Amino acid sequence: METFRMLTKVIIGENCIYENRDLLKGAGKHAAVIAGKNSAQKSGALDDVKRMLDECKISCIVIPKTKANPDLDNVSEMALIARDEGADIIIGIGGGSPMDAAKAVALLCTNDIDPDELFTNSRKADPLPLYAVPTTAGTGSEVTPYSVLTIPKTGDKQSFADERVFPRIAFLDHRYTETMDRDVTVDTAADAFSHAFEGYISKRATRTSDILAIESMRIILSEYEKLDSFLMDAGSRKDLLYASMLAGIVISQTGTTLLHGLGYALTCNRGISHGRANGMLFPAYLRVLYGSNRQKLDMLTAKLGFVEFDMLPDMLGKLFPDKLSLTSSELDTFVDYSISHKSINYTPADFDRMKIRGIFESVRKQ
Ligand code: NAP
Ligand code: FE
Repeated sequence: METFRMLTKVIIGENCIYENRDLLKGAGKHAAVIAGKNSAQKSGALDDVKRMLDECKISCIVIPKTKANPDLDNVSEMALIARDEGADIIIGIGGGSPMDAAKAVALLCTNDIDPDELFTNSRKADPLPLYAVPTTAGTGSEVTPYSVLTIPKTGDKQSFADERVFPRIAFLDHRYTETMDRDVTVDTAADAFSHAFEGYISKRATRTSDILAIESMRIILSEYEKLDSFLMDAGSRKDLLYASMLAGIVISQTGTTLLHGLGYALTCNRGISHGRANGMLFPAYLRVLYGSNRQKLDMLTAKLGFVEFDMLPDMLGKLFPDKLSLTSSELDTFVDYSISHKSINYTPADFDRMKIRGIFESVRKQ
């Protein structure tokens, strides 16, 4: 049996916020805009959202306080402000961090719960209506029901899934992604690619998700040279934003696989960005997976126009050549963390401690 359910209306195109400026009419009276420190302003998205709200006679408070990998204290602080302000709609502008934070805020505004209860089924009341404007081309959070949050006490990343936080509308204007520097551009593209790949290989993959996953990977790889040289033009930005949205739809159906669990270990313990962590570990992960999924991965190789599967890990390895100094006890910590990560359940290979350690060894400075 296969199902497919995605609840976000996606609007794509240059100037799409202004051209659809009436869409939020009647959606609420006072909006809380959840953003990071700079990107919403710098990308131009915030001005466009403000203009739209103005046209719809919705006042707004901007809360530009989201940290990278937002933690429960961070979302709780922003939810208090939004609640005090009497916000009745939430708009998340930014990369995955502000969009995920906006989902948590939307729920915390209507549910009298501690932020750690977001991970339980105590979030009974519906969230405030939520809208999303991505400024990175990576997480696809604008089309997923997930919010990934950091637990302050342990530094671990945990996620919750709730269909009610699928944004009502996602506005995709690639111009907002043009201000990303090389690192953020490449890291987030690797995240998008990992979503598409992991969705494709996932035990929960369906025929529908495979179509989207292959198309997403094909588009991202077609921009590989421009990503590598960072000679990005408007067409590349447009392609990457579109592909990351497709990959978001893929994981909204399939979830991710162990690569995300492995990457979290590097992000939580070494502060490496989410996309970069996935990208660095990707080549070794791919090689392990190939051993037990030859048929599906050979099919992918052909669909992507490669002569042999090995070309894929080689290309990804070239984008992320950096290595880390890692002690043996750090490696043990990473293995302990990732072997119990829930994403292992959907990973189509037997990963034991030795295989996982080998993947972390692949990014270790010799
Ligand atoms: P991010 O943490 O949102 O942003 C990374 C950095 O890029 C920040 O410094 C941000 O600045 C900056 N930035 C964002 N847009 C920019 C722009 N247009 N121009 C210049 N700088 C810009 O990065 P992300 O990779 O998009 O999101 C990562 C988070 O998403 C992680 O917490 C990850 O776990 C989560 N995630 C969620 C899902 C999901 O389905 N919900 C899926 C994958 C990952 P500001 O601080 O000023 O904004
Ligand atoms: Fe991700």
